[in-house]
Amino acid sequence: MNYSIAIDGPSGAGKSTLAKAIAARLGFYYVDTGAIYRTVGLYVARQGGNCAVPADVEPLLPAIQIGMEYGEDGLQHMILNGEDVTAAIRENAVSQYASQVSAIPAVREFLLEMQRGLAKRHSVIMDGRDIGTVVLPDADIKVYLTASVEERALRRWKELQAKGDGTPLETVKEQIIQRDYADSHREIAPLRQAEDAVVLDTSELDLEESIEALYNIVKERIDL
Ligand code: C5P
Repeated sequence: MNYSIAIDGPSGAGKSTLAKAIAARLGFYYVDTGAIYRTVGLYVARQGGNCAVPADVEPLLPAIQIGMEYGEDGLQHMILNGEDVTAAIRENAVSQYASQVSAIPAVREFLLEMQRGLAKRHSVIMDGRDIGTVVLPDADIKVYLTASVEERALRRWKELQAKGDGTPLETVKEQIIQRDYADSHREIAPLRQAEDAVVLDTSELDLEESIEALYNIVKERIDL
């Protein structure tokens, strides 16, 4: 029997880090759906398309082959038409491209079956914006992971600094506020908490405490 755990929440709440840690503990597949949207955004931008314009994006979809491989490093590697783009999709500009393409219904439709297929074949912990509400409405556990804007901006800024990206903290915060707004106000699959989701706010928790809190939520709800 396959279990599914849906983790939704705004950018920088720690979804990927926590979901990855819990997946490793449980032996589940970790599926980072944001990475899939990023891969589509990267492709469109590379082709010179405007990610916010459906007429630019839609004709490109049939040419996009997305593969996911799980490396020995435990990372979910994204393969775009045969090329490993795992690092390229983390560049700051790609966050915006992903957010833009993700508001286009044809893009969401294109990726829906891929995400559901993964959950059918494996026990998964899947993170994104609409996993508990749209992709896996029958997930065994739904968690809405959040943290204050200040805390999320600080975490993202540190990540960027570590990669040598000198975007100022204020700019990172502005970008997060904009992305939160776009993600929760779009017409299709907006970011919102599923009614049956458990809310976990990590503003006051460090990484270890956040992992434990999430693990406890899981442990209370499924027989491990
Ligand atoms: O999670 P991450 O920041 O990598 O996601 C990039 C963008 O992809 C988000 O800002 C959001 O607009 C979009 N996304 C989405 N639905 C998901 C996952 C990500 O719309 N399930």
